Amino acid sequence: MRAEGVSLEEAQVNLCMAICAWNGDGEALLVFDPPLPSANTTPLEDCFTLNFNEGVRTKDKIKDLYVGGICPLCQHGIGLRNKRSLNLEKTPKSDVLGTLGLRPKSFVYSESLLSLFSTAETKRINFREVEFPGKSRNRYYELIGPALVEQVGIFGGEYLTDFHQSWACKRCQRKEFCLAPSQPGELIDGYIVRSDLPEKLPSVFTFKSRLGCELVFNRAMWAKILASKFLKGFAEGRVKLINEKLADRDPKLPQPSKFEW
Ligand SMILES: [Zn+2]
Repeated sequence: MRAEGVSLEEAQVNLCMAICAWNGDGEALLVFDPPLPSANTTPLEDCFTLNFNEGVRTKDKIKDLYVGGICPLCQHGIGLRNKRSLNLEKTPKSDVLGTLGLRPKSFVYSESLLSLFSTAETKRINFREVEFPGKSRNRYYELIGPALVEQVGIFGGEYLTDFHQSWACKRCQRKEFCLAPSQPGELIDGYIVRSDLPEKLPSVFTFKSRLGCELVFNRAMWAKILASKFLKGFAEGRVKLINEKLADRDPKLPQPSKFEW
């Protein structure tokens, strides 16, 4: 049975009428699985993340960095970061860096950047100093985690699948995904369910994104970062906070039999 309409409401009315016609009588009750997005599930507010311009290779291999070693299928580290410090191949220049060749990526932040946050703001976030050759005025720290929240999918969203952007690993069950923009020009780095966060939005928190664990900031902290003229080498990333009803926590994704990174 199917129904059409110029609007969702009209299509629902037509579907109910078709069901009643088939049924002979009564009032049809529609249950949507997955639920329909509705007016009160529009994004709440944006948070911000630091997109890095500087990628850095490491002397470390992913199999040596995670407590569960490496997944033989998707080649990602399994479980939590172990205690080994990261060794960068070159001296960092920017205030935020992302590792190249490690899956998941590690995010590395400068001491200058981290000095913007109070001890209270970062007391639940673990950082570990990284090593690198050469000299820098800054020390650098890898974000270890834990991630306070994870990215979610969106019901009805389109997942990009070129170049392994969105996938699920049938071996280790890891999922990574990236949603197509819902409108042209929109650049969103991930979606978080608002109720997964404390009622008072933290000024800085950790987020398991498509790439790895990264820092996210509220609007006030983002303004503070932008006002800190000494920080360099980053671009604005956007993270949307959404209502639970819109969130697909278990998106259906392709399961490649082979990963070609
Ligand atoms: Zn895997």
